[in-house]
Amino acid sequence: MTARIIDGAAVAASLRARLAEKVAALPYRPGLMVVLVGDDPASAVYVRAKDKAANAAGIAAQTIRLPASTTQADLLARIAQLNADAAVDGILVQLPLPAHIDTQAVVEAVDPAKDVDGFHPLNVGRLASGHPALVPCTPLGVMRLLGEAGTPLEGARALIAGRSAIVGRPMVSLMLAANATVTVAHSRTRDLAAECGRASIIVAAVGRPGLIRGDWIAPGATVIDVGTNRLPNGKLAGDVAFAEAAQVAGAITPVPGGVGPMTIACLLENTVTAAERRRNPA
Ligand code: NAD
Repeated sequence: MTARIIDGAAVAASLRARLAEKVAALPYRPGLMVVLVGDDPASAVYVRAKDKAANAAGIAAQTIRLPASTTQADLLARIAQLNADAAVDGILVQLPLPAHIDTQAVVEAVDPAKDVDGFHPLNVGRLASGHPALVPCTPLGVMRLLGEAGTPLEGARALIAGRSAIVGRPMVSLMLAANATVTVAHSRTRDLAAECGRASIIVAAVGRPGLIRGDWIAPGATVIDVGTNRLPNGKLAGDVAFAEAAQVAGAITPVPGGVGPMTIACLLENTVTAAERRRNPA
């Protein structure tokens, strides 16, 4: 069998186009503020991409660039201003923050109704307890890709490899909400190969290139590879040995071009969701 390749770039482009249509029909322009502290080059690239994609979808996005020397008190004061600004629907503080800033204090300072990253404990708790929430963008993107692939989730055995706060754990909550039977593997899991073999859906979010081998995967399984690993030759590789896995899986995402493009598209979706909920409370 040769797997169907799930084209994340195409799915993300169609989601962005749908959101642009939706935004064009709104009587207001949703606002997104991205806060970048310091000059981490990777963060600068992400922030530019987010700003550009949001504006292309009709969202009024701006980036506030603050020096690496910004104090925690200054950053918290900025966030308080954005929380109070009626034109701002979404606030995203780009992580990582400089070491002298308490990241959790900053995450908790963002108004949960504007928390388009879904990292505020209120949103984390709402998602974990099965209530509507602003959901972290990458796991949300994975759910959108599974929907696009037509993978049945109800009753399916899903293996999530990785238990981080931003990918693995929210992934578990989203899969449970979709009625999958969920197993979580992590760094202390004894036999990852056997866990993979029992799953009809594998979501890999570990950060180790090629960790998951083709012969670990059940024939016909859907494999979503969140891993984004820079190899010594400069190329990007996923957590799944793609060439092998594509011989066995039913559907698989490539890296790059799979989950990556969905993260920004889902940030735009969260911004529109936050705007609609805030401006038209039920
Ligand atoms: P992390 O380092 O915070 O977490 C990695 C997780 O993998 C941990 O929970 C750990 O327990 C688990 N793990 C380690 N070794 C393992 C093993 N042998 N078997 C099973 N689990 C193991 O990483 P993260 O932030 O969750 O990111 C994971 C990967 O996803 C990285 O490659 C990252 O670059 C990528 N990522 C991509 C996107 C995107 O595409 N937009 C977004 C976020 C993260």
